[in-house]
Amino acid sequence: MAVPLLDLTLQYHAHKDEFDGVISGIFERSSFIGGAPVKQLEADIAAFCGTEYCVACGNGTDALFLIMFAAGIGKGDEVITTPWTFFATVEAIQHVGATPVFVDIEPGTFNIDASKIEAAITPKTKAILPVHIFGQCADMDVINAIAKAHGLLVFEDACQAIGATYKGKRAGSLAHAAAFSFFPSKNLGCAGDGGCVTTDDKELADKARLFAAHGASSKYHHSIFGGNSRLDTLQAALLSAKLPYLDENNSQRHDAAKYYDAAFADVDEIETPVERDYGTMVYHLYIIKSQKCAEVQAALKDAGIGNAIYYPLSLHLQEAMKLLPDWKTPSLPISESCDNRCLGIPCFPGITQEQQDEVIRVILGIL
Ligand SMILES: *Cc1c(COP(=O)(O)O)cnc(C)c1O
Repeated sequence: MAVPLLDLTLQYHAHKDEFDGVISGIFERSSFIGGAPVKQLEADIAAFCGTEYCVACGNGTDALFLIMFAAGIGKGDEVITTPWTFFATVEAIQHVGATPVFVDIEPGTFNIDASKIEAAITPKTKAILPVHIFGQCADMDVINAIAKAHGLLVFEDACQAIGATYKGKRAGSLAHAAAFSFFPSKNLGCAGDGGCVTTDDKELADKARLFAAHGASSKYHHSIFGGNSRLDTLQAALLSAKLPYLDENNSQRHDAAKYYDAAFADVDEIETPVERDYGTMVYHLYIIKSQKCAEVQAALKDAGIGNAIYYPLSLHLQEAMKLLPDWKTPSLPISESCDNRCLGIPCFPGITQEQQDEVIRVILGIL
């Protein structure tokens, strides 16, 4: 039985009439840029996360950039981040002219190791950018305390973690500002690209919004050089319709993850994800780590089971890093030990026990 890594058609078919109605409603008005649906989504996301402001934008990569820009991070500044993330995290740092400084990750959660951050702070450090990787919040109290002691800003890359909690608060409300992505495969995905910034800082929100609209505070009057990063009206309307189902979908991911945890508990060759008790993980991805990753991957492929390596190469080892001035490749042994060893397996809302049993059967069969 073939099992996809992610089946997005389930979400559509579960609410087909509602989503179709939203889409045709936008076409009936044929107003495709801005407008009430975008304002509504911003209000919905801010309320969901527990922040004052939300600024919708074109994608998660732009959201990260807009935060860096609006916070005044720039040339000569250093931003501490994790090597175990999607490349967009460091692109945002580089695109404002700042330098990424990588700190190694924790073995079980793959999140930045907060205990190693302090040693990486220099007089040039301006901010810390943890990533809530695979849907689990980084240890934000520890990170925020370090930042406070050193006068640094903290931003969340929450692109994989919408709905996750940390000590009762939602991802997106745990630092100065946060970036989300609505890329289709994310936990709250639209029908294309989308993203947003959440924050309690009005000035940061205003600046991000200004940049995203060509630096124009009123039409054809430009106070700064900005760019174009909009969330389409259609996407905003769809996202507002999908948001009420997010917690339910996330808890289905969580249940599926616990089912795998139990199945692999006694298997020495597999390390399952560690969920810290300070919050609830939303399992954007369920990752198994194994020295036999290649064999497991080949077996899954033969059986028609979707899977993917997250990630093949730590960011500090990427070719592009050598383009940074004065770049010296750091040694980050935990992150490096995860390269090509971590496999995402099917863990999506609506996955059936039968499908999970098939994944488990194939994996246990090869080990
Ligand atoms: C998806 C993702 C991004 C980028 O989001 P896009 O909407 O694809 O631009 C950034 N950071 C992380 C951790 C992501 O997973």
